[in-house]
Amino acid sequence: MLDERQEEFSAIRDGVRGLCAGFPAEYWRHIDEQKGFPQDFVRAMTEAGWLSAMIPEAYGGSGLGLAEASIILEEVNRCGGNSGTIHGQMYNMFTLLRNGSDEQKSAYLPRLASGELRLQSMGVTEPTTGTDTTKIKTTAVRRGDRYVINGQKVWISRVQHSDLMILLARTTPLEAVQRKSEGMSIFLVDLREAIGKGLTVRPIPNMVNHETNELFFDELEIPASNLIGEEGKGFRYILDGLNAERTLIAAECIGDGRWFVDKARHYARDRVVFGRPIGQNQGVQFPIAEAHIEIEAADLMRWHACDLYDRGENAGAAANMAKYLAAKASWEAANACLQTHGGFGFATEYDVERKFRETRLYQVAPISTNLILSYVAEHLLELPRSF
Ligand SMILES: Cc1cc2nc3c(=O)[nH]c(=O)nc-3n(C[C@H](O)[C@H](O)[C@H](O)COP(=O)(O)OP(=O)(O)OC[C@H]3O[C@@H](n4cnc5c(N)ncnc54)[C@H](O)[C@@H]3O)c2cc1C
Repeated sequence: MLDERQEEFSAIRDGVRGLCAGFPAEYWRHIDEQKGFPQDFVRAMTEAGWLSAMIPEAYGGSGLGLAEASIILEEVNRCGGNSGTIHGQMYNMFTLLRNGSDEQKSAYLPRLASGELRLQSMGVTEPTTGTDTTKIKTTAVRRGDRYVINGQKVWISRVQHSDLMILLARTTPLEAVQRKSEGMSIFLVDLREAIGKGLTVRPIPNMVNHETNELFFDELEIPASNLIGEEGKGFRYILDGLNAERTLIAAECIGDGRWFVDKARHYARDRVVFGRPIGQNQGVQFPIAEAHIEIEAADLMRWHACDLYDRGENAGAAANMAKYLAAKASWEAANACLQTHGGFGFATEYDVERKFRETRLYQVAPISTNLILSYVAEHLLELPRSF
């Protein structure tokens, strides 16, 4: 079904490509070298309305589906940029849109759509519990009209470039719930009010130029009205948003993969060694061809996931498999591209090493490959639960 819509989608591709042309490789290279944040790019994407693609029209967005949103992020990466700098704004608003009250949606979504507010951050991961999310130790305790938050998070991205953050915290102790997935809640934290008044942010230097942080909560007070949805159901709300997030990340990986294949094939045609283009050697051609095949295959699963999601059907399995296939394909394309470039693959001016680092992240975050395999084994293949 989505095949028939590719013509319609080409307007989105062209629009994003046109904007990205104003942010060429030199821009991203400079940002990477400076360990900076692409403020101008994020502002341009916001002003052009691309980041509010999925916010309903009634709240000032374009009311588009996951398929269209995925194209936007794919194209940014395909043009050599890094959509990791913007994707939070796309998928964090889902959590608010799907689970927030009418008052919360009216208060925040129009201002997110206009760019007045940024909702780029989501705080789930903790240092001592990692992937075992139901064991999180950050607590939110109700005191009158406030919740008081204590605990710690790690790897929380874009906090320094966001006004709001969605936070997962325990509201009922693990020992007091029947199922470990119960007793957690999600909150909207206004970072502008919280930082320095109970929330401390410590940046984590890392391999990618990705703004990510440790967060320390010490008696942070937030209004009780910032609870999203019902108390105790936060884990389910977070899980709901993950299918969209994984499908969007898959599309980003497809964009990366296509960038690597293009870069590799052009270089392989131009670079002459032993009196002929290196791309004339099958030893050089084959890994590029293989990367292309795997990206195209992953793309089919990505469209399948988008299609299910946009039709309101269960996209869990397809979203996980799309993310798995696309992250693997982009990483293999990155390897093929680097190998094709030989020594020049390591030179920053070719951008290959930067994109190589960027795409590697997606085998670990937002969900690691092993956890997807475990999901498929347990939920699709009915193998015994391993944890
Ligand atoms: C740059 C970056 C940005 C991030 N941004 C955010 C963010 O904005 N918000 C947020 O909440 N989190 C964020 N994360 C965290 C990310 O989601 C986690 O790093 C990821 O889910 C893996 O969790 P972990 O690092 O705790 O690994 P661990 O849970 O410690 O696992 C380590 C390794 O062991 C494997 N493993 C663990 N248990 C099992 C098992 N039972 N079976 C098989 N293998 C297993 C994992 O697959 C992984 O490879 C970010 C991480 C990075 C690196």
